[in-house]
Amino acid sequence: MTSTSNHHPVVGVSHVSGSRHRKRPYGWLLMAAGVAIAGSGISFVAATARAHSDNLDARVAFDSTALKIAGSLQATLQHEEDLVVSLGAIVAANPEITTDELRTWVDSLRAPRRYPELLGVGAMSIVPKAELDAFILRLRADPAAPLGPTAPVAIVPSGERPFYCLLQAAIGIGAVPANAAFAVDYCAGAIGPVILQARDSGSAANLAVPSDHGPQLTVQTPIYGGDALPETVEARRADYLGSIATSLSPAVIFATVLQDDPDATIVLRSGTGPSAAVFTSRTAPPRALSVVVDIGNGWSATISEPARNRGVFASDVVALATAGCAASVLLGALILALGTGRRRAIGLVSRRTDELRHQALHDALSGLPNRTLILDRVEQLLARCRRNDTVGAALYIDLDGFKDINDTLGHEAGDQLLQAVATRLTTALRGVDTIGRMGGDEFVVLVEDGSLHVAPEHVAERLLEVLRQPFELDATPRSIVVTASIGIAIGDRNTAGDLLRDADIALYRAKAAGRNCYKLFRPDMETAGRYRYELDFDLRSALDNQQFRVFYQPIYDLSDLSIVGAEALIRWQHPTRGLLQPDEFVPLLEASGRIVEVGRWVLRDACRQAKIWVDQGHELSVSVNVSACQLDRDSIIEHVAEALATSTLEPAHLVLEITETALMKDTELTASRLHALKALGVRLAIDDFGTGYSSLAYLQRFPVDYLKIDRSFIEAVGQSAEAGALMHTLVQLGKDLGLKTLAEGVETTAQLDHLRGEAVDRAQGFLLARPLSAEAFESQLLFMRTAHRPPSVDTTSPEAISTSDVFDH
Ligand code: C2E
Ligand code: CA
Ligand code: CA
Repeated sequence: MTSTSNHHPVVGVSHVSGSRHRKRPYGWLLMAAGVAIAGSGISFVAATARAHSDNLDARVAFDSTALKIAGSLQATLQHEEDLVVSLGAIVAANPEITTDELRTWVDSLRAPRRYPELLGVGAMSIVPKAELDAFILRLRADPAAPLGPTAPVAIVPSGERPFYCLLQAAIGIGAVPANAAFAVDYCAGAIGPVILQARDSGSAANLAVPSDHGPQLTVQTPIYGGDALPETVEARRADYLGSIATSLSPAVIFATVLQDDPDATIVLRSGTGPSAAVFTSRTAPPRALSVVVDIGNGWSATISEPARNRGVFASDVVALATAGCAASVLLGALILALGTGRRRAIGLVSRRTDELRHQALHDALSGLPNRTLILDRVEQLLARCRRNDTVGAALYIDLDGFKDINDTLGHEAGDQLLQAVATRLTTALRGVDTIGRMGGDEFVVLVEDGSLHVAPEHVAERLLEVLRQPFELDATPRSIVVTASIGIAIGDRNTAGDLLRDADIALYRAKAAGRNCYKLFRPDMETAGRYRYELDFDLRSALDNQQFRVFYQPIYDLSDLSIVGAEALIRWQHPTRGLLQPDEFVPLLEASGRIVEVGRWVLRDACRQAKIWVDQGHELSVSVNVSACQLDRDSIIEHVAEALATSTLEPAHLVLEITETALMKDTELTASRLHALKALGVRLAIDDFGTGYSSLAYLQRFPVDYLKIDRSFIEAVGQSAEAGALMHTLVQLGKDLGLKTLAEGVETTAQLDHLRGEAVDRAQGFLLARPLSAEAFESQLLFMRTAHRPPSVDTTSPEAISTSDVFDH
């Protein structure tokens, strides 16, 4: 079970070129195969030789423990590499990075908590003698730099040399101070050749540096300008920008990795000969089982455990040999998977070097993994689950109404809230779960559990629960209450993107189901959900791309069938799906809150159009639909005032239609907003009247002018005596309240006659006219004016008045 001591280039820095790895694409495979074959062979020999030994089973158990520890060690070192990748990207983009900037970045990562083994980080440059004075001046001018403003300049060791390896920015994390009143020239000391060798080779150097608390592990990673690792030594020297140095505490790493196996010991080794860095968790007991595992990156770990006698487990040699072989093959598979997973990650990193320069792998605001890293983590999750036959899940979390908070309380409060949310979500999770921020107010949580003890639904419930407690933020005196919606996708998918997409589709369902809840993805969501998802996506750009149209449906006075108004009805000219009706997209706009902006545009456009018609001498008003979301905020008053001001339309020519259900949401606030709107001089109509649950008392509190009796009542009229009686009651109710009544959805002459019998004031419906484009509506107005007569009503067809092909139905 002894592995080769292959040396692998240190990875994880953005400059590592893809081509370098393409040169040895089968390295991991060969190594894995080698380990599997060698391990199997040894297992077989061992099993045969020790057929009667008590310890074979102990060996097998030990191998699996060692395998687990090796995996865990590798994961920890990989975690640190993520950090170096992102810092490398930052330094490459900003080679003059200061200690202050470095500290901001480390703070944003909340490094002490998330990287407990990290003792310090620094950015080191090679400074030629000619530039030394300028460099020292810059350090002094930057008060946060290692040299304080008044510190004497002392290069240690002193003396003139052609160049110096100096830290330009460095900080210690936790209790370890990094700032010193002198500048150490690392190249003059024992590690100088190692740093220069790392620069020339492009691989990181691992060093054991003595300290008060035992040897520290210092990793020196060279970084270069340009996208890829320069091919030749000369080019590497020319492009070299400096190195990232991270100091890690091996003790913390060992404690983390060995927490489940306190009896085991580790010797971690990098390199050979005198320059080898060797760290020991504890001296191995004399009679120990022990194995050397190559964990990549030039590291090898010797893992030992005291030999235990567990008695005869099996007499069957073949079974034991098989178990040993299986463990070896598993170890090989693990190495292969870790290796290729790593290779994929490197490929990803090198392909995206440019992007990474600007946005590292972690989100600056919350310190959480960002989208790029999360996608990689999802890939790993999927691979791990396939391998271990476990189940993983992605939870897509989106705050409800976050935009409002940003708009009303400002971006500072918004940012603080996002940070507080990130913290709460993180603390609500187990250490093994992954959380990241996808951008904006969207977070992703990955959970994984063999037995699914912790069902993702329970995780979702817990997350919703912790968010429900109010937030106290510095930026605002009052506490803030937010809720979130969560979409969950469980199980295997082809790609990370597929799993996240499904979670997002489920999230969309949770939003549609009223928010503050979670929904599990089901495959049948996809067809219907997918369509709406795509529509929702396209909607985001529809307003900017001027794809919305307003159609106008004439409203007639029932006494003489003259046109007295027009209801503005929105349409969406979709680039590929044609002209879409509001039923298809208004609910989406409402769910996302974008109806506020779109409604503002409708108001402006309808007022502009009405002004033109009024100026042409037509006495009519335009009715605009206002959603509950619009009425939820004070901005509606501004938006109406603005539409009136820019169009110079008389306020009396504008009617706002508000559904009965919207009115009943928060009656106190709504009533005050309606009074403010009324004070602008506009009229108000209750839309879809009869379908909600208004009581008379409420109706009296709202300053409304019109009741629009819902189409369902008109439709029922003539079908039953009760429907007729109900209609009669509704109309009388309106009249008693002193309101004008309007019937919508009139489709037949029988209905029209009935409405006239009830002395309903106004009517609108397909019988009279369908919603028309502005031009068609204008022709209709002109036609009516010249003909001096109401439209001819054909009793047989609701399409009767279709005078042109601009009708949208
Ligand atoms: P609504 O406010 O009840 O609008 C009346 C709807 O009834 C319109 O549907 C209209 O085309 C339809 N209609 C008119 N006469 C008849 C008829 O005789 N028979 C039948 N079957 N239907 C008739 P549309 O244009 O599809 O609008 C649907 C809903 O979308 C509207 O219902 C309204 O709630 C909403 N909507 C439309 N435009 C806007 C807008 O600009 N803002 C907001 N917030 N909502 C809008
Ligand atoms: Ca309406
Ligand atoms: Ca209506």
